[in-house]
Amino acid sequence: MDYIQESDFTVLEEGFTARGLIEKIINDASQTEERDAFLVGDMEEVVKKHLHFLKTLPRVKPFYAVKCNNFRPLVKLFAEMGTGFDCASKSEIELIKEIGVNPERIIYANPCKQISSIKFAANNGVQMMTFDNELELIKVSENHPKAKMVLRIATKDSKSSYCMNAKFGAPLNTCRHLLETAKNLNIEVIGVSFHVGSACSDPQLFAQSIEDAHLVFDIASEFQHKMTLLDIGGGFPGIMEAKISFEEIAAVVNSALDKYFPEGSAVDIIAEPGRYYVASAFTLAVNIIGKKIVQQDAPESHGERNDPCKSVFYYLNDGIYGTFSRLLFRRCQHKLILHKEPSPKQPLYMSSLWGPTCDPMDQIAEHLYLPELCIGDWLLYYNVGAYTVVASSTFNGFHPPHIHFAMSLQAWEDVHLLKRGFEQAENTKKN
Ligand SMILES: *Cc1c(COP(=O)(O)O)cnc(C)c1O
Repeated sequence: MDYIQESDFTVLEEGFTARGLIEKIINDASQTEERDAFLVGDMEEVVKKHLHFLKTLPRVKPFYAVKCNNFRPLVKLFAEMGTGFDCASKSEIELIKEIGVNPERIIYANPCKQISSIKFAANNGVQMMTFDNELELIKVSENHPKAKMVLRIATKDSKSSYCMNAKFGAPLNTCRHLLETAKNLNIEVIGVSFHVGSACSDPQLFAQSIEDAHLVFDIASEFQHKMTLLDIGGGFPGIMEAKISFEEIAAVVNSALDKYFPEGSAVDIIAEPGRYYVASAFTLAVNIIGKKIVQQDAPESHGERNDPCKSVFYYLNDGIYGTFSRLLFRRCQHKLILHKEPSPKQPLYMSSLWGPTCDPMDQIAEHLYLPELCIGDWLLYYNVGAYTVVASSTFNGFHPPHIHFAMSLQAWEDVHLLKRGFEQAENTKKN
């Protein structure tokens, strides 16, 4: 067992913030030549998000999606606050078990699992698993016959920044057959799940999917499956700047739940938020390690202004093989802030930002207008908590930045309160 301890965090004294910690680390580093990029994870932000989730979606129990950010102090914090966990691989299950979480709090939410991993789940007490196809049911019947299966349904075409339907989800017209197959194989189906796609921008997708799930519950009852679980997945925004707010989505979810799964319907409702909890909690501080001034001929110099325009390349000590890994595939949600505030009089130059590796793809941004910066200056990036460092590599010998986890005294107290509440609820369940 590896329970949470104060030593997992930098505990922030009264009046000191995570931003203050960033300043302190930058200050200390500025005395030396060691100016490695680093991240600060503000655990108070995560605790606040959790309290807000419980208040805003009171009928929904969160199962944190481990893949979003799986660093140990963070995952231990979730364990302590009493959330469940959405794991998608054997190692994620191992991690959650190692920190002392009862496997009943895990859903193995990957519809296509390797046989040895299914056996691993069976041997380690993980019962809830998702599926969206017939062959998966056959694998489960042979390797984990006591599993409690959750049917992952496809959602209607998604307006999310990261759509899931292309890979997972059973279309509604296949559900009857799947539920019948499960019955014939003697496999218990306990519920329905879906995922509207990450950073969802259309709350109606939740309403539509909850309605679809209700339909599948009805079909399941024809085959005497005892349906007790609705899993509304992830897709909740994690940053203030999101097009649709968490509260807007929650309002739609709450009314759809009241309509299709009203209180008293003996259905447990869970969600699998990832991004929501962590995106805004992490900040990257990255240092300029190189600079190149490029003189370009002005594209249209008409006599009066024929000085070549200056553009500047900055090379940073973190890039797409580190915190910016998602840039390879999608637009990221990070937000750039200059550490030293420029004066409004400083001229701006066309600038581009590059990572430290020798790969020409390793570019973080181009066509930015920035004041002239120096080698050794720092840049800050906000909103880098979700799907960033977890997808990094050590390509070219560059290691992802070190992470400092900051915990305020107030948040630490809230965590203990949440823990006590969770333990009491567990005890009353047992008795
Ligand atoms: C990735 C994933 C999540 C988390 O999604 P977010 O958009 O980060 O909330 C939840 N459930 C499943 C099945 C996933 O694959």
